[in-house]
Amino acid sequence: MREKMQRFMSGRYGVDELSKFLNIFVLVFLVISMFAGWLPLLSIFYWIGIVLMIYNCFRMFSRNTSKRYEENQKFVNMRYRYVVKWDRMKKRFAQRRTHRFYKCPDCKQTVRVPKGRGKICITCPKCRKEFVRRS
Ligand SMILES: [Zn+2]
Repeated sequence: MREKMQRFMSGRYGVDELSKFLNIFVLVFLVISMFAGWLPLLSIFYWIGIVLMIYNCFRMFSRNTSKRYEENQKFVNMRYRYVVKWDRMKKRFAQRRTHRFYKCPDCKQTVRVPKGRGKICITCPKCRKEFVRRS
């Protein structure tokens, strides 16, 4: 059975990170759509779920492996960027009582300063631009 499956899948693309993510999405959407009897608007989730499922199957059985690989790479990069952003937000939230965060008006670099020092002159560590803010 397994061998048969392997032979069937050879030359096809199969499952990657993006498929796993889409699978979870399909599941979530289908579960949400179960409440459509309660709120008819939710039936749209059923159709989105079905479309995603079809797209996922298309990716799995696709023979254009380089194109699918490229899609997956894009997805993995995007996910990585979100993880980094989320991590930064968490760190910032943890320091919200002791520090303030300002963006440099020139290069948009975020600068962290200790709170409660009144008006201070901040020097951007990246471009050396000075700007005054309340801390
Ligand atoms: Zn700067």
